[in-house]
Parts: sequence; C-alpha cells; structure tokens
Amino acid sequence: LAQLFRPLDFLGMVYREIRQGLIDMEAMFGLVDTQAEVVDAPDARPLAVAGGAVRFENVEFAYDPERPILKGVDLEIPAGATLAVVGPSGAGKSTLARLLFRFYEVTGGRITIDGQDIRRVTQGSLRRAIGIVPQDTVLFNDTIGYNIGYGRDGATQEEIEAAARGAAIHDFIMSLPEGYRTRVGERGLKLSGGEKQRVAIARTLLKNPPLLILDEATSALDSRTEADIQTTLEAVSERRTTIVIAHRLSTVVHADEIAVLEAGRVVERGTHAELLAADGLYAEMWARQLFERDQAMEEA
Ligand code: ADP
Ligand code: MG
Repeated sequence: LAQLFRPLDFLGMVYREIRQGLIDMEAMFGLVDTQAEVVDAPDARPLAVAGGAVRFENVEFAYDPERPILKGVDLEIPAGATLAVVGPSGAGKSTLARLLFRFYEVTGGRITIDGQDIRRVTQGSLRRAIGIVPQDTVLFNDTIGYNIGYGRDGATQEEIEAAARGAAIHDFIMSLPEGYRTRVGERGLKLSGGEKQRVAIARTLLKNPPLLILDEATSALDSRTEADIQTTLEAVSERRTTIVIAHRLSTVVHADEIAVLEAGRVVERGTHAELLAADGLYAEMWARQLFERDQAMEEA
C-alpha cells in the first residue's frame, strides 16, 4: 500500500508546486481571473535591451469592454531614469505594470522598450528583462534560500547570499536556527511583511533585470522599516529604468519625474517641486499626507 501512495504523494507535491507558482503570479499581479492568453507573434524576436527606455504611447486598456480603465496614457521613461506613478486607488497604476509585463494586451496605442513594440517580441525575453517587487509577496512553502534563488535559475549559494545582503536580509537569515535552509511560508516560519518584501527584493537583485517595477513596494511596512527598505530600493533602481508605483508620496520625492494618474488619465507630470508649485492634485495629496502624518504623530 505504501508503494501505491508514494507516486500519489509525488503528484500531490508537483500539483502543489504548480499551484503555488500560479498563486505567486496572481499575487504578483493582483489577479484572480485569467484573461484571454497573450501569445507570441509568429515572427516574434527576442527583446534587445539597449538602455531600457520605456514609452507608453496613447495607451488604452479595458479589462471589460464596457469599462475603460486607461484612456490614452502617454508616459516616457528615459533609459536608467525613475518615473513615479501616483494617484488615487483604482486609477489604473498597477494596470500599467501588468501591461508592461504584457500580462494583458493594450486595446489601443502601444508600449515600446528601446523602440520595440512589446507585442512584437517574445514574452520570455520581455519578462526576463523586467523585475517586479509586487504589492504583496507570496512565499513558496520551501526554504528561504529557495525562495530567493527562485529569482534566477541555477543561482549558486554565493549569489543567493550576495542578493540577500543587498536586500539587507542576510543577517536575519543567519540568525535563524537553520539559516538559509529554514523553511518558510504557510507551513514554515512566518515572515513579517518587511521580511517578505526583502525576500522579493533579493529575488529581483538576483534576477538583475534592466527594468524594474516597484508596485507600492513598501506599502505594508511601518515607517522605520519602510525607510530602511527605501534606501535599499534606491540603490537597486540606480542605473536601471524604474517605475515606482506609490501610494505614500514620501517614497517618490526623488524620482526624476512624477506622473499623477487619475481615472485612467495622466493629469499632471513633473518633479516634486514642479508639482507642488502647480498646486493641483499632487499638491493636494501631498498636503493631505502631511496632515495625516502629523495626526498620527500626535496620537502616538
Ligand atoms: P491602482 O493600482 O491604481 O489602485 P488598478 O490598476 O489595480 O488600480 O485597477 C484599476 C481599475 O481596474 C480598478 O477599478 C480595478 O477595480 C479594475 N481592475 C483591476 N484588475 C481587474 C481585473 N482583473 N478585472 C477587472 N477589473 C480590474
Ligand atoms: Mg495598485
């Protein structure tokens, strides 16, 4: 009987691995339903990344044809620059990231990387070029070393540790009884929001992509941990084309450019100082957040 069970066990394990893979993808994109599959064009070529300049040209998109989400978005991120996208929740910020990763197809306009329409390149090459630190990182029920190494096939232990150092989580891992072999996830050690985020950052460091998307990457953290991680993220985004999607404006002050998205349209663009001077939606959001921070400090 035991022999009969073993293959079933194995299948169960494979099933769980696959399922977790899917859950991870879903978590990455905040998706629950699966959309019509995006397929490679017959003549698709690998993406050739020169500097990693990204352009959204009059991009339109709707999950449901009845309800347009993006209504003609123009954005330009020069190679190596950092663009912050801010705006009310539901404005379409995460949707921009999903479209760049080509999880969905634009319904109008186009997105290019170094001049190449992302619909004309292979998805594999596109996704290898982009690293995402998602809003909420889901861990595999495996060792913490595996969870970091997942960033790149065939990574060595040395490379995994270097990535963990870069994400400021190596010392924490070494303090665990079984170090990198400590099991994490639902059936292992539970990591805090900040620790999980560092694992996601370490994965991304290991992947070493020319393009980086940080989607409210520090939203789940207390402000002290956030400040720590912010420093790490700034180092990671240096010399890499980066899109920072942020709810908290304190994280975007140093971006080369800030775009304010509201109901699927870019309503303001500029540096922090320019947008404050313009006294529009950004200035209003900024004033509100300062006010909320002061209130929180009074209550504390
Ligand atoms: P943001 O990141 O700015 O908060 P999103 O890009 O996640 O906003 O979502 C923009 C809008 O699209 C929201 O109204 C949201 O409800 C809707 N939306 C997001 N994902 C889906 C989906 N998979 N199917 C249908 N509607 C969606
Ligand atoms: Mg979002």
